[in-house]
Amino acid sequence: MSAPLPLFPVTTVGSWPRPPAVAVALADLRRNRIARAEFDRIADAAIVDLVRLQHDLGCDLVTDGELRRDNFYSFVATKLTGVRLMTLAEMLDVVDDKAGFERLLQTLDVPAYSISSPICTGPIRRRESFTVGELRFLRRHTDRPVKVTLPGPYLLMRAMFVPELTRAHYATKEALAEDVVSLLREELAELISAKADFVQFDEPVLTEVAFAPGRTRTFMCAALAARNDPAEELELAISLLNRVVSGFSGTRIGVHVCRGNWSRDESTLLTGAYTPLAPYFERMQESQLVLEYATPRAGDVLKFDGKEIGLGVVNPRTDAVESPAEIRSVIEKALRFYAPTEIFLNPDCGFGTFSNRPMNSWEVASAKIASMVGAARDLRGRW
Ligand SMILES: [Zn+2]
Repeated sequence: MSAPLPLFPVTTVGSWPRPPAVAVALADLRRNRIARAEFDRIADAAIVDLVRLQHDLGCDLVTDGELRRDNFYSFVATKLTGVRLMTLAEMLDVVDDKAGFERLLQTLDVPAYSISSPICTGPIRRRESFTVGELRFLRRHTDRPVKVTLPGPYLLMRAMFVPELTRAHYATKEALAEDVVSLLREELAELISAKADFVQFDEPVLTEVAFAPGRTRTFMCAALAARNDPAEELELAISLLNRVVSGFSGTRIGVHVCRGNWSRDESTLLTGAYTPLAPYFERMQESQLVLEYATPRAGDVLKFDGKEIGLGVVNPRTDAVESPAEIRSVIEKALRFYAPTEIFLNPDCGFGTFSNRPMNSWEVASAKIASMVGAARDLRGRW
């Protein structure tokens, strides 16, 4: 087993900017210009560098930066049957409401050619594990606890279900969700066997359901929202999340919920406190909520009964590096509601997110992590 975690463990939400060689290799792999072995050679080297960097910076819970992935959820397309990776531009060709989809991409500041989504075009089955290979590789290069990130079941269902392409195989998004839950349970069982210390499910769409119920499509969710009642959608999301983890133990499990991390233009991202999500969060079986609190758009730190908090203390999209004192002030707010053992430190979201559209540089991301480590070390002496 990995070493125990110190108080205020420092970690990331998952993604790290892809180095140029990896970004090129990802594009080449997708176009079958290079073999998987060649891609792995390039990605392996970059991940070894990133692990070393996390060690040097003082990260307590290490990730592979999702460097092998095109983005945090689309990568499942390469691991599944019945799923096709499509750019937003390709999706524009098939959706009925082309003008609306195009308008949405413009409003959200999302470039149609640089982001891909995994679209369900047939019965879905795992061809290979999503992340166990990533975990095993990481384990060979670190003796620190490791975090593995996975798209959550609600996100996958919403992203994969495009009525125009999916309905021949799954009549409804709920029918597709049944298979999504099954394959995420298979994945989780394997990750626990392979001794993942932390498994994080990413569910960024929950804020959109709660804050922008009128919007029918987003770039992450080509599916029609179908139901306009956010409460009903959130019930579905919670039930899927609970079914994925039901009966499992042996690893710490978290859910990451943010307000979007695709643009540095903060005005295109959602605003609002987590308050409307609180009753749903508290019914989740996952023990940790990995949340944004560095951005003022997220409002004040809230107490969620029975949960640990993965406290967002730095903004992954800005160049200004938060000082340890600024970070400590966010932690002090959390200490009003949470015991020191219940607080983990992380950025609000990933530093990379999309392979073609990183939110920051290695240099700034490293400085932000170093600041988090500084703040954690200052506070650890108190207990
Ligand atoms: Zn996020």
